[in-house]
Amino acid sequence: MKQLIFIFIILCFITQLNAQPNASPRIIMIGAHPDDCDIDGGGTAALYASLGYAVKFVSVTNGDAGHQSEGGGALAKRRIAEAHEAGKRFGVTYDVLDNHDGELLPTLDVRLQVIRKIREWNADIVMAPRPNDYHPDHRYTGVLVQDAAFMVTVPNVAPDTPPLKKNPVFLYFQDFFQRPNPFRPDIAIDVTSVFDQKIDALEAHQSQVYEWLPWIGGYADQVPKDPAERKKWLATNRAIVITPEVRKSLERWYGKEKAAQVKHAEVFEICEYGKQPSEEDIRKLFPMIKK
Ligand SMILES: [Zn+2]
Repeated sequence: MKQLIFIFIILCFITQLNAQPNASPRIIMIGAHPDDCDIDGGGTAALYASLGYAVKFVSVTNGDAGHQSEGGGALAKRRIAEAHEAGKRFGVTYDVLDNHDGELLPTLDVRLQVIRKIREWNADIVMAPRPNDYHPDHRYTGVLVQDAAFMVTVPNVAPDTPPLKKNPVFLYFQDFFQRPNPFRPDIAIDVTSVFDQKIDALEAHQSQVYEWLPWIGGYADQVPKDPAERKKWLATNRAIVITPEVRKSLERWYGKEKAAQVKHAEVFEICEYGKQPSEEDIRKLFPMIKK
């Protein structure tokens, strides 16, 4: 009996070591649609989760316009369920805000929704798209998060939710738009070890990865019917080529030798608003970076 109690105490201790729900850094990723954070930062989120850090994904819209033959409340419900399933597979919590897809505007009301989410999460890192993008919802999500960047610390704004005591670091997800200025790969994360997990989680968004995105992209005929073939196709479809600039950033963070081995990376740009992190801060905020 004594031995059993001893084993139980040891097990509790190990579980405690793994789960650090209040440990810093706490990360919140904010996208426009219920699959944006997954695509842009899913691998990084999975790495944080595996180290025991708490990550939240927020979709600012409910995704109710993202399909060729479904729509409205029924589609929003389907996509919320998909998001929750993807969240489980990444090891993160997923919130979907009830704003219409395709109609997002950077209004004061939505800004306050974003401010509250960042505060409630007590975030150290906030990730969002840049306000340069083909999709107005992505663009305005970028604007909304920029508009929240200072206000999260101002007590008299959204006074029902206590302000953050320190300003988080705000980061942009990678994009390929060139005007008015191209994306700058300040921080590059090796996500090779969790790429399969990322594909598995992206697969939860069936309405998107196998239906809507191929249809609107004009390649619906390329999606295989067989589930195993389909998954393989998705992995190829979602692999992003590592550009020379991104490889350079990987070298900076991981060293030349390790950087050369990286097959999949997620990359972030530091926003000029919010806390400006030093190299030492970045290494603390991204504990998965090991030389
Ligand atoms: Zn989107």
